[in-house]
Amino acid sequence: MTHDDLSPASRVVALGRSPRVPGGGVGAPLELTSTYLADGPVGYARASNPTWSAFEDALGSLEGGEALVFASGMAAVSAALSLAPHGSAVVASKTAYNGTVATLLDAEREARHEVRWVELTDTEAVVAALDGAALVWLESPSNPLLEVADLPALAAAAREKGVLSVCDNTFATPLRQRPLDLGVDVVVHSVTKYLSGHSDLILGATVTAAGDPGRALRDRLAHQRLLGGAIAGPMETWLALRGLRTLDVRLERASASAAELARRLAGHPGVQRLRYPGFGAMVSVEVVGGADGAERVAAATRLWVHSTSLGGVESQLERRRRHELEPETTPENLIRLSVGIEDVEDLWRDLDQALRRAPAPR
Ligand code: PLP
Repeated sequence: MTHDDLSPASRVVALGRSPRVPGGGVGAPLELTSTYLADGPVGYARASNPTWSAFEDALGSLEGGEALVFASGMAAVSAALSLAPHGSAVVASKTAYNGTVATLLDAEREARHEVRWVELTDTEAVVAALDGAALVWLESPSNPLLEVADLPALAAAAREKGVLSVCDNTFATPLRQRPLDLGVDVVVHSVTKYLSGHSDLILGATVTAAGDPGRALRDRLAHQRLLGGAIAGPMETWLALRGLRTLDVRLERASASAAELARRLAGHPGVQRLRYPGFGAMVSVEVVGGADGAERVAAATRLWVHSTSLGGVESQLERRRRHELEPETTPENLIRLSVGIEDVEDLWRDLDQALRRAPAPR
């Protein structure tokens, strides 16, 4: 059931459940079996299984399309990129998740693709780069600069020029942005983050429009997953669906706290530059004291967790350039903040005292 008439807060709870029959399970099935008795609707669990289907039905419906679950966000990224033929041109932002940028750099170095690197927020430049390209990669808001792309304009230009558009919607989630509605062809998620929401699993997903030509893309992605073979485990998928049930309340609390923290951070003496897209629960700050200052801040929190990743119930922070793969477009002193669901005053007190350690000690 798609529950299209309900609000998102109800849909995250109601979607992906079994039909209501007396004695049936209220929760989705967690099926730990590799194979099924012949001649039924499912055969071998690498191709499909009821646990995947429950999650895929829920996420697909939330995004307004058809979802496929992958073993990780990067598996979904790689599958989406595989839609661009060998030797073709790919248009991509210079600033995006470092794993995606590294994958494209590898493709460029190995001459699998010509990569046309663009500024995501320069819509005219992105449109100009589309001529003759096979695929455009859009991540919005972007990780970790939190830049926002003009998705409707870019998706429309891509469609007009016959270029496949892909949007990594990890930071916004379908509750804040539905790229398929904006004309994008393929949505990618790191389910590891907000959708599952508890920092306890790694998972990814793609979503394509229902009906042709979205269905044809879905079939190619499903074929890639089937033969690539590095598939999602049912346990992770089941946990992700359980996490999805609270997405609306988690996001509501975290986004409200992020807005309040952003307001206070704007005037903090330890902050040189604030990056906040005006929605969602991610905030980035460039701090005084350079890379060392940022490391001092990250090491000084008690409640905020100093760790990589984002989108969990716990607030997390990290200086992104500590990663070897992080593009140089990310400033050395940038700390990415993933605001969780703790009390906002506790979060502020902890962050405030940590940020006061940013200047070099005298
Ligand atoms: N896309 C974005 C925007 C991310 O932030 C990440 C991970 O941080 C990924 C994709 C990759 O996801 P995963 O770690 O689940 O493979």
